[in-house]
Amino acid sequence: MRTMIMKEAASFLIPYRCDICNGYSDIEKSTGYLDSLYRRVYSGERGFHICSRCLLGIVPKSCDKRWFTCLSNPLDEDEYNDLTLFMPFEYSGVVDKALPRVKFDNRREIARLFGILLGEIIRQEGITADLIVPVPLSEQRFRERGFNQAEEIAYPVSVICSIPMGNNALFRTRNTGRQSDIRDTAMRAVNMSGAFEVSSEWDITGLRILLIDDVATTGNTLRECAVELYGNGAADVLCCAFSGNRQLKNDEPF
Ligand SMILES: [Zn+2]
Repeated sequence: MRTMIMKEAASFLIPYRCDICNGYSDIEKSTGYLDSLYRRVYSGERGFHICSRCLLGIVPKSCDKRWFTCLSNPLDEDEYNDLTLFMPFEYSGVVDKALPRVKFDNRREIARLFGILLGEIIRQEGITADLIVPVPLSEQRFRERGFNQAEEIAYPVSVICSIPMGNNALFRTRNTGRQSDIRDTAMRAVNMSGAFEVSSEWDITGLRILLIDDVATTGNTLRECAVELYGNGAADVLCCAFSGNRQLKNDEPF
């Protein structure tokens, strides 16, 4: 109780700074829906602070503009060229600014905010699956960062949508480096080829899998994960990314 009073007093005297833009958080007391979702997922107090400008800048696309082909340049000869991607948030200036902060400033709480917002959208869309699988990081990158941003985004989705999460179902066989460092689309595909494996501890036969990453650009990373999941008997794989700068495609929902 005393700690709470002191925290309240401190927030009045020294306003919190927004985790995305570093400006003063002007809506600390008026984000009740975020607080209750955060408590439901993590059984604790919200660990991020956000200002009204940034929160309003994380904009869901309208319902008919959330579905894409997974690959930005699908090839006719690729048997996985019709993989579907659900990507419901605009690649706005705020999202563009926030995603690097997650990866390079280790702002795990921003990924959790994205996961909560994504979870609500997936629940409202009525998307169902048997298992959620986040795109894995290499062990080296995980050690450097201390967390996997895709897993941080996927976990709230798992809780909000009541779908179990298999965060170790898929792993990286090697460190592929940053896809964003490779400019050429074909080279990105080559770089990801055979980079993932399903763990021998998991039997995913017949499961409908919701595969989640933070951002999709060419879609090659999600494709490689999906190929591996299908190769191990998955009945269906829906790729999902929080956001990405991509052309629109309307597909039938999962
Ligand atoms: Zn802000």
